Amino acid sequence: MHVLVLNSGSSSIKFSLFEMPDEREVSSGAIEKIGNHDAKVTLKFLSDESKLTQPILSHSDGLKIIANFLAKKVLTNQKLSAIGHRVVHGGETYSDPQIITDSVLRKIDDLSVLAPLHNPPNAEGIRVSQKIFPQADQVAIFDTAFHSTLPSRAYRYPIPSSLYQKYGIRVYGMHGTSHQYVTQQATNHLGKPTESVNLITIHLGNGCSMTAVKNGKSIDTSMGLSPLAGLMMGTRSGDIDPAIPFFLSEQAGMSPAEVDHLLNHESGLKGIADENDLREVLKQQEQGNENAQLALDMYCYRIKKYIGAYVAVLGRVDALVFTAGVGENSAFVREKCLTGLEALGIQLDSSKNDQQVSAVRELQATGGTIKILVVPTNEELAIAQQTFKLLREKKKKFCVFLPVFSSPE
Ligand code: AMP
Repeated sequence: MHVLVLNSGSSSIKFSLFEMPDEREVSSGAIEKIGNHDAKVTLKFLSDESKLTQPILSHSDGLKIIANFLAKKVLTNQKLSAIGHRVVHGGETYSDPQIITDSVLRKIDDLSVLAPLHNPPNAEGIRVSQKIFPQADQVAIFDTAFHSTLPSRAYRYPIPSSLYQKYGIRVYGMHGTSHQYVTQQATNHLGKPTESVNLITIHLGNGCSMTAVKNGKSIDTSMGLSPLAGLMMGTRSGDIDPAIPFFLSEQAGMSPAEVDHLLNHESGLKGIADENDLREVLKQQEQGNENAQLALDMYCYRIKKYIGAYVAVLGRVDALVFTAGVGENSAFVREKCLTGLEALGIQLDSSKNDQQVSAVRELQATGGTIKILVVPTNEELAIAQQTFKLLREKKKKFCVFLPVFSSPE
């Protein structure tokens, strides 16, 4: 059977098509800059890739292009069985994947208050996909779900309780699909039962977050009510003194929207080094750029602080798990944030760290008591797996033919 994974953002739709249960990705692609006359379309089928630029004014038009491509080139006479949608915020309501009903979709709309940039385009993608693939089972996979096991001492903020009760202000955490996936992969690698594995998972992409995993469950995580909290990221500040926004408002006359933009889009690596792509920051550092040097110092220092905090929280740690673009690929970042942690039992083997291998691998030196793993993440596959598992459990029948649509003019 085929499971389509959709990730609908404000101006983009990314997709992957998996054959399940073999977990083979047969097709993928993206529509970017939706709403523009020069939207970018990338469509891949096995090793063939086509790229084009054309006007795409709505998510509906974008998804029709994907549906046509899949029907004509990929699936031909085969069936599309199910669609797994990435949904950023499930609030306190959803701790598991959900088959999307009218009431689930309404709840995703309601939760837009907590994720105003993400849930509305996620819900739009679901609505469009229900129209285009009316008979396929549609499943929502929530990015907050893995963190639903946080204890209240970790998820509550020390502000008046009424604000939690009235507005739901608490830590929800994000990147849950990735933290959960690498937890599972690391657990398999370690050969331990999930219920007894303790990990610190370190997702370093353009967005960055860390999770303390105790007995296979998330018990603390660095992102909070929103993805702005925690580590320094590509363009997000991560943790700052909460008084800074008031200071900016009073002294620099900035509006709430301007402060929001500054902290989400102009800060992090970009704020310090003028570059949000870590590879560019590394290049500039090699050329002696002091801002790039400072940005990398700050970036790694903050990861190191969270490692220390999470070792304290967990007590016993089986492994640190590095993942995502930076975590999987940057030997420099791994080395810099682990240097000096020998007293905690964390000791990197530099020669292993320098090898580029795209599989789960161990990087600890002989004397280290905590393993150091690199585990490639795969959020799309994780969504396909969870969708498949839920539907199989519900004993659904998978027999839906893919409709063919004419391309929008
Ligand atoms: P992601 O959001 O997981 O796609 O990760 C994006 C981040 O990974 C960007 O900051 C990239 O610069 C970084 N990245 C990707 N490949 C490498 C690499 N080979 N070395 C260092 N950073 C990398």
